[in-house]
Amino acid sequence: TLRLRGIRKTFGSLTALDEVDLDIPRRGTTVLLGPSGSGKSTLLRCINLLEEPDAGEIDFGDGPTRLGGRLGARTVRSIRARSTMVFQQFNLFPHLTALGNVTLAPIHTKGVAKEKAEVRGRELLEKVGLGSKADAYPDRLSGGQQQRVAIARALAMEPDVLLFDEPTSALDPELAAEVVAVLADLAREDRTLVVVTHSLAFAQRVADKVVFLEEGRILLDGPPADFFESEDARLRRFREMVS
Ligand code: ATP
Ligand code: MG
Repeated sequence: TLRLRGIRKTFGSLTALDEVDLDIPRRGTTVLLGPSGSGKSTLLRCINLLEEPDAGEIDFGDGPTRLGGRLGARTVRSIRARSTMVFQQFNLFPHLTALGNVTLAPIHTKGVAKEKAEVRGRELLEKVGLGSKADAYPDRLSGGQQQRVAIARALAMEPDVLLFDEPTSALDPELAAEVVAVLADLAREDRTLVVVTHSLAFAQRVADKVVFLEEGRILLDGPPADFFESEDARLRRFREMVS
């Protein structure tokens, strides 16, 4: 279990995360839901220190690290190495092929030999259904294909935890479906996934656990049925609004 305790993040006078406690089970898919501005992206970003929390603790299973204040560079690196984020905008390097995008970080930050990284990179592209596109540049790929390259790139880092921030929301429905299928495959593979989405259908399909955020606080944390069947007025309103 990845444990977050007392995570607090403010932007000036705004409290984006207010003492968030969350357990993210290993080998499972945790879906974060909540209205716009509720803190979902901020929470994901705190897990890999794209945002540094003002306070709290994070524990990947080998003891808690206290966040806030000054973290040593080594601590920051070791926390960052645990997770990889896939963004809404795929952020591929335009001057690199699909394979080049997937192998860049393993070669340059993990020191994997080029040949080995390329063999693995081709396997991962195959896995996301893009075996034939290894040599294509991003501008020759559809949005859904680009996002699948981004997923292969994240997998190439072999992180403990994969973080997805609305991975399909920049895509047309049929392209989103390809990406959802890849994510559903990953979810079946004993990986630890945390997914922010506005799609209840997608949440229902992949979630082992649903966390609902509102104004920086966790309003619900439990099995999907707890969310989908809740009679709580706020949750019902949210379900009606987004579906
Ligand atoms: P959405 O569904 O629209 O993506 P979200 O749940 O991901 O929303 P966050 O992006 O986490 O929400 O934002 C939480 C709150 O923190 C919002 O009020 C937002 O305006 C604020 N916020 C986020 N990032 C920053 C920042 N870098 N500077 C100032 N305020 C920020
Ligand atoms: Mg967001």
